[in-house]
Amino acid sequence: MRRETQLEGRTDALDLLAHFPAGVTPRPEQARLLAAVADAIAEALDDPAAARVVLVEGPPGVGKSHIAMTLARWSGDAYLLTSQKLLQDQYEREFGAELQIVKGRDNYACDRYPGAHVPTSRGACRRPRGPLCQCPYVRAKTAALGAPIFCANTTYFATLRHWHAERLRRRRLLIVDEAHNLEAQLAGVYTAGFPPAEMRAWFGGPLPHLASADDYRALLVEHLDRLEARRAAIGRELEALRPPELAADLFLRMPPSRAEQELIAQRDNLESAFARVRFFLDDAGEWIMRYPPDPDATLELVPLSVAVMARELFAESAELVVLSSAHLGPKSVLAECFGLDAGGMRAFASPSPFPVEQRPIVYRPVGALSRSSLAALEPALFAAIATILDVHRAEKGLIHAPSYAAGARLVRDLAARAPAHARRLIWVESTEAKARALDAHRASSVPTVLVSPSLRDGVDLPDDFLRFQIVTKMPFPDLGDPWTAARRERDPRWYALETAKALVQAYGRSCRHAGDHGVSYVLDAQFERFLARYRVLLPEWFLDAAEPALRARGSSDGTE
Ligand code: SF4
Repeated sequence: MRRETQLEGRTDALDLLAHFPAGVTPRPEQARLLAAVADAIAEALDDPAAARVVLVEGPPGVGKSHIAMTLARWSGDAYLLTSQKLLQDQYEREFGAELQIVKGRDNYACDRYPGAHVPTSRGACRRPRGPLCQCPYVRAKTAALGAPIFCANTTYFATLRHWHAERLRRRRLLIVDEAHNLEAQLAGVYTAGFPPAEMRAWFGGPLPHLASADDYRALLVEHLDRLEARRAAIGRELEALRPPELAADLFLRMPPSRAEQELIAQRDNLESAFARVRFFLDDAGEWIMRYPPDPDATLELVPLSVAVMARELFAESAELVVLSSAHLGPKSVLAECFGLDAGGMRAFASPSPFPVEQRPIVYRPVGALSRSSLAALEPALFAAIATILDVHRAEKGLIHAPSYAAGARLVRDLAARAPAHARRLIWVESTEAKARALDAHRASSVPTVLVSPSLRDGVDLPDDFLRFQIVTKMPFPDLGDPWTAARRERDPRWYALETAKALVQAYGRSCRHAGDHGVSYVLDAQFERFLARYRVLLPEWFLDAAEPALRARGSSDGTE
């Protein structure tokens, strides 16, 4: 018998362009992509066995957020997920009134303590005997749950859906924007992490280094009682914070002290760890242990595959799923990653709307950079970077460093080698420092240059904010990370595709709109080898710029 679905009976609504956000004319690439997606949806409407996962790939400048909004508006019933809060803010700025945004509790202030800036995660209701009320967070979540377009970041959504039994009803459409990050984000949602301070508080000291994640199963079963005991102890400590002579309601009228907020945060961490440990213990899949040998290391237990979780997320969240990104790669790799049947997916890709002259690649290899060769090749690498900085002495730019350690060495080297250019550098020493560094870069009247290993993704630096960028080392995922190493062992194509996606993301910073331009330098000779071997994993619009760069290099070497 034919299964009834919410999607049925909507074939009349397939003029997707009619739902394009008002005030903007669709570009030809957007119109073509939407027409192709409309066909896939029409098929899904007519045939319950048709593909229900649609991949939409479009390079920077195509306007994927407008495509996502068109689909969400057409459905009238969508979850729209972004990979970062920065992108969520972008959606809010562009389409504010049309979608209802909800963020994690920490982003809202408790109404009960105006002026004290107590986040709702530590608000009055989180204190012993605290009242239940409708806070800005609850209001935002309730509004989003009732709105035609619920917009959240992917991690928040997956966490809410899995760990807290709130009913996120099945909708017509789930759109995951920047979906190239989805696997890593889902792995993060299910990871059981034990930072050193927590291990001391919960277990009296660091957990031992065992041979594999599985070896922690028996140990953690034993420790569940200790976690429970610690949770009860925190509850008692919280109760004891109120001076006995002070009535509970009077105490609750005072904002929680720093000590009380810390205890509430500890209790939340403990509860979250408890839930994740239970999930780890109940899950029969393969898990990977991250536990570096240094004494202050964090122990993490990470699921090797998120296939089961992703399949469940897709199936339970919506009738139809759209995954969107600049580049997602072959369906077969994605299908394996998300536990899907490749036949149940349709993929549509757009070319770049910008001529290659506005987004050229210049290939200037200093040698094949790898973990083992990096130290020997760094002097040549740093010299090449100094030369490029000199050429672009009046322009802002971005240097993609190989790692935080190598980035710090580069900054030190340039201070001695090219002090005038070193003063232009804005060193981004951690992911937390990103937003502040980007603000400083945008605000400065000097031709500043950002240096970071973590600005490949989700960073918008149009026009004069970026006229050149340097890809130092090819962005191979770090095989020193046990999860990455195990994932590659299971599927070498996955590792190559992750590299291709990271490279394409970095390249995508260079030209953001029709009137923009920016040059990308690539200094790693592995670029050439990678292209020769994995051309098929890269989109045409990237190859349009990469192949002339290789040819130009070949002819300047006399190898052509
Ligand atoms: S529900 Fe009320 S008490 Fe709790 S955080 Fe929100 S405003 Fe504060």
